[in-house]
Amino acid sequence: MIEALPTHAPPGYECPFCSVVRGEDNLPWTVQDDVVRRDGRTTAWINGRWWANNPGAVVVVPDEHVENIYALTGEQARAVHESTRPSHSR
Ligand SMILES: [Zn+2]
Repeated sequence: MIEALPTHAPPGYECPFCSVVRGEDNLPWTVQDDVVRRDGRTTAWINGRWWANNPGAVVVVPDEHVENIYALTGEQARAVHESTRPSHSR
C-alpha cells in the first residue's frame, strides 16, 4: 500500500479549482455565475472551456483540495458521484 502519494504541484502553486470553491473567479475560465451547485461537500460549475467533440461540460470537484483523482478518498469520490446524480435519485 502506498503511504503517501507523490505531489507534482510546484512550490507556491495556486489551485484554480479551489479558487472557484472559495468563491473567487478564475479568469478567464470560470466566474461565480458559472457555479450551478454547492452542497457543502462539492462544487459544480459549467466549464468555460469547450472542445469540438465535447461541446459543454460540468466540472464537479470536492470542496477540499485533491491533487488528482488517485488522491480522492472514498468519501470524496462518493460525494462527487452523488453530486452528479439527479436530485430524485439521491
Ligand atoms: Zn484545489
